[in-house]
Order: sequence, then C-alpha cells, then structure tokens
Amino acid sequence: MDFEPGASVQNAELPIRVALLGSTGSIGRQTLDVIRQLGGRFRVVCMGAGRDRELLLKQAASLPERPLLLALADEGAASSSSDSGYAILYGEAGMVELAAHPEVDLVVVATTGHAGFAPTLAALEAGKELALANKEALVMAGEIVTGLAQRKGIRIRPIDSEHSAIWQCLVGEPDEPDNRMRGASGSWPCIEELVLTASGGPFRTWDREATARATPQQALNHPTWKMGAKVTIDSASLMNKGLEVIEAHWLFGVPFDRIAVVIHPESIIHSMVRFVDGSAKAQLGIPDMRVPIQYALTHPQRYENQVMPRADWAALGTLHFEAVDVERFRCLSLAFEAGRAGATYPTAMAAADEIAVALFLEGRIRFGDIAGIIESVLNKHGSVAIAKPDIEAIKWADSWARQAALELL
Ligand code: MG
Repeated sequence: MDFEPGASVQNAELPIRVALLGSTGSIGRQTLDVIRQLGGRFRVVCMGAGRDRELLLKQAASLPERPLLLALADEGAASSSSDSGYAILYGEAGMVELAAHPEVDLVVVATTGHAGFAPTLAALEAGKELALANKEALVMAGEIVTGLAQRKGIRIRPIDSEHSAIWQCLVGEPDEPDNRMRGASGSWPCIEELVLTASGGPFRTWDREATARATPQQALNHPTWKMGAKVTIDSASLMNKGLEVIEAHWLFGVPFDRIAVVIHPESIIHSMVRFVDGSAKAQLGIPDMRVPIQYALTHPQRYENQVMPRADWAALGTLHFEAVDVERFRCLSLAFEAGRAGATYPTAMAAADEIAVALFLEGRIRFGDIAGIIESVLNKHGSVAIAKPDIEAIKWADSWARQAALELL
C-alpha cells in the first residue's frame, strides 16, 4: 500500500481535530492563539494541563466549541471540589487517554520535562499525527520514539524553532524529507552538516565567575525568546541547545559529528543545513514561537497569518555569529558526550538537568553548579548504564538519575 505523507491529516475533513497537551504553558497558550488566528481550520477537542485547573477551565470556556475531554496531569488536582461541568481526567493515564482519543487527528505535545513521554508514545501508538514541542521524549527515548513513528508511518512534526527551521530547509531536497521525518533508517546523503543556532542566552558576554553566581532572576531574563522557566534556564546554560542537538540527531538521522552549534545573538536565523555541494540553506524570521507552531499544524500548507511578525531586513542591518565558549557552557559538551555514548546516558542527563534546574530555581544551588551536578550523575551512571534500553529501562534510568542528582546535595 502506498502511504501518503500525513494523509490522515491532509485529507481529513476540516476542521482538523486537535488534542493539546500542556495548554497552560507557554507553547500551549501560543498554540491556542495560532488556532484562533487560523479560523475554523482546527478544532481543539481535548485539552490537558499540569496542575493549573483554573486556567485550563478558562481556556476550555474560551473555545468556540465545547471540548470533549479535559485532563490534569497532577493527581493532586483531583481533590479540587468545584464542579466545572466538564469531563476531567487526572494523572498520566488521563493525559495518555487524551493523546489516544478516537476523535483526535493531531496531537500537540507541549508539556515540558518527562511528563511528555507517555502521551507521546500513546499518540504514536494510536496512529495520530504528532506535533512535538517536548524535548525530553526524543532525548530520553529517541530510538524508541522515532522507531515507533517509523513503524506507524507517522511524521513527527517538530515545533522547536531550530528543528522546524531544519525541516523547512530540507523540504524539496532529493532525499524525501517526509520519509526522513518519519524516522526512516539511514542518513541523508545530501546533508554535510546541520548547524543549530543559539542566541547564547543572557550570560553570553558574562565572565565565568559572574555566570557561576547568576541568580534565577538573571537567568530567566532571556534576550530574544519568551519561553517557560525550565527551557529559559536551559537556554542560559546552553543545555537547551544540547538537548536540541540530541533531538536533531534522532529527528533527521544525522550523526553527532555532523551537527554543529553556532552562537547567533539576534536569533533571526533559526538554524541552517549545509549540503555536500557546499551550498547552505537557512530559515529566518523574527523570533516568535507562533511561526513554527503554525508550520507544525499546517505542513505542507502555508496559510496567511497577518498577525505573525515580518522582518524588516534593512532595519535589522547586521547579523552576528560567534563560536560557543565550551569552557563556560560545559552543558553543551556534556550533551554531545551523552548523545555519543547513547544507551541510557541521554536519559540520565535530561533527568539530572531537570532536578538541577529545579534546585537552582528554588535557590538551593548556584547557576554554576548545574553542569557539575549533571556531570557527576553521568560519571556515576557509567556503572549502571543500560545499552539498547526499552521503556522500562528508560523509566528506571530517569528515576535513578533524579535520585543520584538529589543525593549530591
Ligand atoms: Mg529551540
């Protein structure tokens, strides 16, 4: 049987029915904006959040049509007594049920951290189209997630600006990007190098001591992108770029020695691909997550949206690039090392980072301690790492690394 890329969504009757997981977070709220801007082409039928019951209900009430089902990932939220009049599920099982709901065509996973893992697998297992903003699912279990997508004939639609940029650069290239996006095996013969751009975050020009002492307030002050707290701290440490390198490896089947990172403070070029003939393509725009969100929803179509910002090239004047200071931003090197080591190393790294970032936000460790915690956990992980992990092994490595990170306190 010939399989048409994205047939289930492209040929679906409008509106395309969406399950939005993580609706109260930064990506979730912007996804609702984009869906509103696109008129009646999409309908949110299922919506899930972490623990913000009040905002979830407010969002549900603002939809033009009543959603079929809501979920809160936090079991504790179940004790809340107010009768909302909506059907609400709780816990991971609730989020998984939304992701696999029979009335859903496209699942948007916009949760952060390891909470996105189970719903991502459930969406793929149920054969849904998947727009993925969650990094950890691909970092922790890239082989499992892309393998499942490939078996189910599903293209993973990246929402992250860097991967959206690479995806857009590869459309029309000879190696059938749609097939590669589905996690097909092998590498792209036409790609010489993926170049992920990084803004450098708020500490790009700081010295080593000042960076190590930086406060949560300073780290949360990202120069170009508005994002949630976890990803903003990860951006300040460049761990975010490290996670994106591992994601790019899995999404595009490109080995780590052909993935590079360059600092580009203006964040106008969202990433680039250099091809074997020396030619390079870049995708550009004013930093605004709604642009890659819309592309993930509408690919392969492009719909007019006058709300999106337009770049004024003459006003921009100059774009800058510089090398990463890998001594100061040790997290990026750790991510390359964990990615190359494979096994459960990336899982342990992502879990240790989640704990370290939480401890930093609580004021219990210094910014400069984040990389050290991750490195110590990875070193300890050497004696227990599991090659070719299955889902159980990944869950085990995740909780092992969380425990190991906490024990370092
Ligand atoms: Mg990004």
